[in-house]
Amino acid sequence: MNMNRIHCQAHYTGRFAPSPSGPLHFGSLVAALASYLDAHANNGQWLVRMEDIDPPREQPGAADLILKTLDAYGMHWHGSVLFQSNRTAVYQTILNEMLVKGQLYPCTCTRKKLAGKNGIYPGYCRNNTHIPNEPYSLRLKCPTEILSFDDQIQGKQSFDLDELGDFILKRKDGLFAYQLAVCADDEFQGITHIVRGFDLIDSTPRQLHLQNVLGYRHPIYSHIPVITLDDGNKLSKQNHAPGIPLDDPGPWLIKGIKALGMPVDTGLESCSVEDILKWGISHWQQQLIPVTDGIPMATLN
Ligand code: GLU
Ligand code: ZN
Repeated sequence: MNMNRIHCQAHYTGRFAPSPSGPLHFGSLVAALASYLDAHANNGQWLVRMEDIDPPREQPGAADLILKTLDAYGMHWHGSVLFQSNRTAVYQTILNEMLVKGQLYPCTCTRKKLAGKNGIYPGYCRNNTHIPNEPYSLRLKCPTEILSFDDQIQGKQSFDLDELGDFILKRKDGLFAYQLAVCADDEFQGITHIVRGFDLIDSTPRQLHLQNVLGYRHPIYSHIPVITLDDGNKLSKQNHAPGIPLDDPGPWLIKGIKALGMPVDTGLESCSVEDILKWGISHWQQQLIPVTDGIPMATLN
């Protein structure tokens, strides 16, 4: 397909979009920092969006704590935080319109039926036209198509939509899927540049496709390496990555700057948080970020 994208937005609007499933850990700090530095180095705006539409995976107080942590680390956002939990009526309206247009279909497949399919949906319910009497999810019909994009860090990426399968936009339990909410809100907030972790790179073709279906603009994407533990797994809430401390941001910011490939001046240790960030903005070069999917935490000391 033709991926000549027209970017008529002259300005830069970036965002950090955490899910409140736990405190901000070092891996998410690096993602926040990369999007913050890239936005500011480009004289752009940096927004924060709370992706709080998956209550079963959320931790009480985490959203608050994440915002407090960003504040303590000197990363102040433009305007007010958008909470996705306030946007569900918008998501439902989008789905209703897509249903009318036949772009979605209800899927009643059980987890058992889909076992062993590697998470790729084989299209069993594709021809469902009626709303079933049992619980169902809503899936987006995806064509057989290669989607390519130029990742600003990782280079040209190509994905076969067929190999990703028809993905879910609303779950059987009634919750809206990340792919839908993220596209709706990136469009709504006029996001021009997305800087996020490599673990989301295979979500990008899905989002580009959904943006095409909905007639939305395509942001420019940069996927930064994720921070990994000794066992190669990424730091995450699932493996209980500890939250970064509120009271000692300097060393963690400097470690984050190192993770992004910047040669850190020794004098930086004695600087305030504000000055560390200013240094980061003025020395920011996206080309310094290592072109890899992960960076072991142990290499950053
Ligand atoms: N909320 C997602 C996460 O915390 C990130 C979404 C995004 O940057 O697109 O993994
Ligand atoms: Zn199905």
